[in-house]
Amino acid sequence: MISKNMKELVDKSAAISALFTEGPRLRKLLGDENVFDFGIGNPNVKAPISVNETAIELLENMDSLTLHSYTDGAGIPSVRQAIAESLNRRFGEEYTGKNIVMTTGAAGGLNVILKVLLDQGDEVLTFAPYFSEYDVYVANAGGRLISIAPNIPSFLPDANKLEEAISSKTKAIIINNPNNPTGVVYDEETLKKVAEVLNKKGKEFGTTIYLISDEPYRELVFDGVTVPYIPKIYGNTIVAYSFSKSLSLPGDRIGYLTIPSTVEDFEDVVYGAGVANRVLGFVNAPALQQLVVARCCDEKSDIAFYDKNREILYNALISYGFECAKPQGAFYLFVKALEEDDVAFVNKAKEYGILMTPGRGFGCKGYVRIAYCVARAVIERALPSFEKLAKAYKK
Ligand code: PLP
Repeated sequence: MISKNMKELVDKSAAISALFTEGPRLRKLLGDENVFDFGIGNPNVKAPISVNETAIELLENMDSLTLHSYTDGAGIPSVRQAIAESLNRRFGEEYTGKNIVMTTGAAGGLNVILKVLLDQGDEVLTFAPYFSEYDVYVANAGGRLISIAPNIPSFLPDANKLEEAISSKTKAIIINNPNNPTGVVYDEETLKKVAEVLNKKGKEFGTTIYLISDEPYRELVFDGVTVPYIPKIYGNTIVAYSFSKSLSLPGDRIGYLTIPSTVEDFEDVVYGAGVANRVLGFVNAPALQQLVVARCCDEKSDIAFYDKNREILYNALISYGFECAKPQGAFYLFVKALEEDDVAFVNKAKEYGILMTPGRGFGCKGYVRIAYCVARAVIERALPSFEKLAKAYKK
């Protein structure tokens, strides 16, 4: 018999599993052409050609035993150094390889750092709406995730609410910028207010509050917006980065943690992260992919494609009467449901062949997430269905 814990997890992830099964079910029912699947955030632009070329070159020319061997738990030293130098060029930092720990994507990185930081019963805060897996990642490390109510309609972090939520048990806060599911990019002023509160409350309780910045969408920004580099604002920040979206490599499971030397107990945190990689069963980030991203880390997949999708879909939805803050990052629209119950609204949309994700899965009822990382043709063919859906709610 499976454990009670796992049974609970299986039941909770039913909604996520449904994202994968609903598409095929509806296609059978309505036909391929009439189903518009905006459920899953799987990149649909190809990785830059240099990614495959680098992998091929490594496979052809590097000693096979070396290439495929276990690596240091924190990653291959030359790879860590290459990533550090890239960050130094981009953000004017002075990192060395010691500041970088290679991970199996941001998911691996988050689990690693939470394992390093949390004691049983520690609290971790996050701002709703938030990536739903945080609950489980925090629980995996023995902690408890507490979400701070959404700040509607801006969806920016609310420093006052943060101040109320911090207790003596608060060990960390997870911030996701640009945000999944809203696509909102948190600006510098807002983040400075967050940092002020963390400093103030840390002093008050005599504790250290770590900020974990989850940044898989850092490169996916539009309208010339820049994503503030949080370690410059709050020294106790650890960044979880991933190449899943920036290089379109979600299945290859590669990313890294940046642990600046300003982080409290820096040496222990870095060493602990290497050990956590091993004891959590990741052992090390995939060796071949470490070597690939060391050479391709300054490249991006075609962001302009997502930008065009965003423009087409956003403009159309607004013209049909939907309400939505125009997102400046990631590849999601977070749209107000046309009835109070977001699950009922998602079910209604299915009648029109449209698949979306209810906002309650992200801790924000009454909204739905539309992942527009789909083929352009899917968006264009879906527009009449969105229009019919909007009309169905007009009295
Ligand atoms: N964090 C957020 C906000 C995400 O949206 C995702 C994936 O969609 C992840 C983390 C995990 O990404 P990765 O593939 O890098 O593990």
